[in-house]
Amino acid sequence: MDIQKKLEHSLGKPVSQAENRELYSALLSLVQEMAADRERLDGKKKVYYISAEFLIGKLLSNNLINLGIYGEVKKILKDNGKDLCQIEELEPEPSLGNGGLGRLAACFLDSIATLGLAGDGIGLNYHLGLFKQVFENHLQKETPNPWIEDQSWLNRTDVTYPVEFGGLKVTARMYDIEVTGYHNRTNRLHLFDLDSVDDSIAADGINFNKEDIEKNLTLFLYPDDSDEQGRLLRIYQQYFMVSSGAQLILDECVARGCQLYDLPDYAVIQINDTHPTMVIPELIRLLTARGLDMDTAIDVVSRTCAYTNHTILAEALEKWPIAYLKKVVPQLVPIIEVLDDRVRRKFDDESTAIIDRNDTVHMAHIDIHYSFSVNGVAALHTEILKNSELHNFYRLYPEKFNNKTNGITFRRWLLHCNPLLTEFLDETIGEGYKKDASELEKLLAYQEDETVLEKLLEIKQKNKEALSTYLKETQKLEISPDTIFDIQIKRLHEYKRQQLNALYIIDKYLEIKAGKIPAAPVTAIFGAKAAPAYVIAKDIIHLILCLQEIINNDPEVSPWLKVVMVENYNVTMAEKLIPACDISEQISLASKEASGTGNMKFMLNGAVTLGTEDGANVEIHECVGDDNIFVFGASSDEVISHYAKADYVARDYYEQNPAIKAAVDFMTGEEMLKIGCRENLERLQNELIGKDWFMTLLDFDSYKETKERALQAWTDRKAWAKKALVNIAKAGFFSSDRTIEEYNRDIWHL
Ligand SMILES: *Cc1c(COP(=O)(O)O)cnc(C)c1O
Repeated sequence: MDIQKKLEHSLGKPVSQAENRELYSALLSLVQEMAADRERLDGKKKVYYISAEFLIGKLLSNNLINLGIYGEVKKILKDNGKDLCQIEELEPEPSLGNGGLGRLAACFLDSIATLGLAGDGIGLNYHLGLFKQVFENHLQKETPNPWIEDQSWLNRTDVTYPVEFGGLKVTARMYDIEVTGYHNRTNRLHLFDLDSVDDSIAADGINFNKEDIEKNLTLFLYPDDSDEQGRLLRIYQQYFMVSSGAQLILDECVARGCQLYDLPDYAVIQINDTHPTMVIPELIRLLTARGLDMDTAIDVVSRTCAYTNHTILAEALEKWPIAYLKKVVPQLVPIIEVLDDRVRRKFDDESTAIIDRNDTVHMAHIDIHYSFSVNGVAALHTEILKNSELHNFYRLYPEKFNNKTNGITFRRWLLHCNPLLTEFLDETIGEGYKKDASELEKLLAYQEDETVLEKLLEIKQKNKEALSTYLKETQKLEISPDTIFDIQIKRLHEYKRQQLNALYIIDKYLEIKAGKIPAAPVTAIFGAKAAPAYVIAKDIIHLILCLQEIINNDPEVSPWLKVVMVENYNVTMAEKLIPACDISEQISLASKEASGTGNMKFMLNGAVTLGTEDGANVEIHECVGDDNIFVFGASSDEVISHYAKADYVARDYYEQNPAIKAAVDFMTGEEMLKIGCRENLERLQNELIGKDWFMTLLDFDSYKETKERALQAWTDRKAWAKKALVNIAKAGFFSSDRTIEEYNRDIWHL
């Protein structure tokens, strides 16, 4: 049956007479049906990607693209006076992730299905998601983000599993979301939930009774863990996820003929960061309960699990007091003690122990000892793991360590978000790049082609116009598409250094006030959520929002410089911002950003990176060459040496560099205090002068000088278009299809 007939059958009326909401619902049903039809039988071995986050974004358009009916549906709608973009606006964005780590998991599911591999995701069905960010009085406020509607991508299943905590038994229920591959198989994202969870207990923002586990367990992703109750709740969530997941994996494998002792032939479990670590002791527990002896169970599980490390920030590596585990998961504690005991017998090295002398359990240490693969997410990151952060582990298990540079799915981050560029690429280099991203290099043949360069500039301009309209309509933000769009969008964290960008903006403001006009007018665009309990991060948001108000309302400055911070940065917003970007800000302190994936999305859409030699920026630099990226700042070796010697003193930079002093002083000057909160601004200022753990002031001069060069370079439109072209052409390496092929080749062996 053709698509229009199918739609009209489910609508019960002609497409032309349907409301957008009815069309959304009919399209959702159509996609679900087509996706289910594509299901393929599993092979013998399957990968289970287990993750606390899956930042999947809206699914309608992406599924239409992957099912190969996007063009046809769009045309049917258009012929009937309807607009797919408007229908898309009705879809709520599932709020199941936080940032790069969750988005990576989503890109990976897309690529696993696209490559025709058997692989499912396992996670939790958070009802109210992370949180929705709103700005009030130049401050971030968190509100619940309910996203589940009566009809949604979630399919409730009859699959349930018992999960037992200390003193509490619950029943997990599995929900499934179909994951369509691009012109290939359909896999699934399994999200576990509790029937008894009650959304209504979240009152007054994101506060709720943290002890009522049966009602709160899957309400929020990353509930505030600044108190003990919050930390316990995170352990409840993690165990709930891994226990349900482990039971599912064993059931599926047994159904495929697995005998338990040969589990590694049927399953590989990729542990995404430390949140799912308890899957290791839980599987050992389940296998011993089903008759394997302890030695065999430990061996089988170690050969089934593989671990991905995402950070070298010490504070982000999870550690739990054993007392917490005794309370929430007493049945795992004896197993974790056995695991620790074995490590201690084998290696006389306190730094690699699982339970330390303070009775704290180091989750990453469980992963490293009891999995067969440990991977970092970019070349530099993996080297830092091997040579410093995890050096003592690397000495024990050099064969386990490997690198898998992150990637992004081009279906979402090019085909879906940038249809103009996609169409142009189709015409210029053919459509082969959609299946083999390295074919983007064909574009290099057009580096000197005036028409192609003109066309790239024209597409960028149109995307900037579209973004300007969107921000005006949805957030009442006024920006001009005739300015340079300089964009920094990512979670707010001191290591990512939004504060460095903000200091630059203050400096520029002061320069313009003093009569020094920039090379071209610039719009600095930010988007970032701060963790609710991360005080300094919220102060940085406050600073940026105050600057936005002061600068945009200053008639002398605003023709040359504008600042906007978009509210509630998420995947949907990223899809609008990235195609419109000229300069991609990737300015983390070298050594601190494990990989970054935003940097890749920007590159693919023809933005030029302004960045430090950090994470995957290093590899982007290698791909595009010195002429097509703006690199600045201290190297990761220099930074690591500053930490080792403890010889970085922020105050010296503040006192000896007049531009830095003026910018930092401005933060608590008269103008700022007129609209901002003294407490927040002073706290941030003191942090910068007195500590500055992420060395903002160290890189200020180098950042400023390099950014001036980038802005100047933008004014030579043809030369800039060539840089954009090279960035697009060289982005193929950063396809998550390449990343997943490597995971499969080196780790999964499906
Ligand atoms: C890609 C992406 C990220 C990760 O961005 P980084 O710049 O790599 O930190 C975070 N949030 C959203 C919504 C994304 O799409």
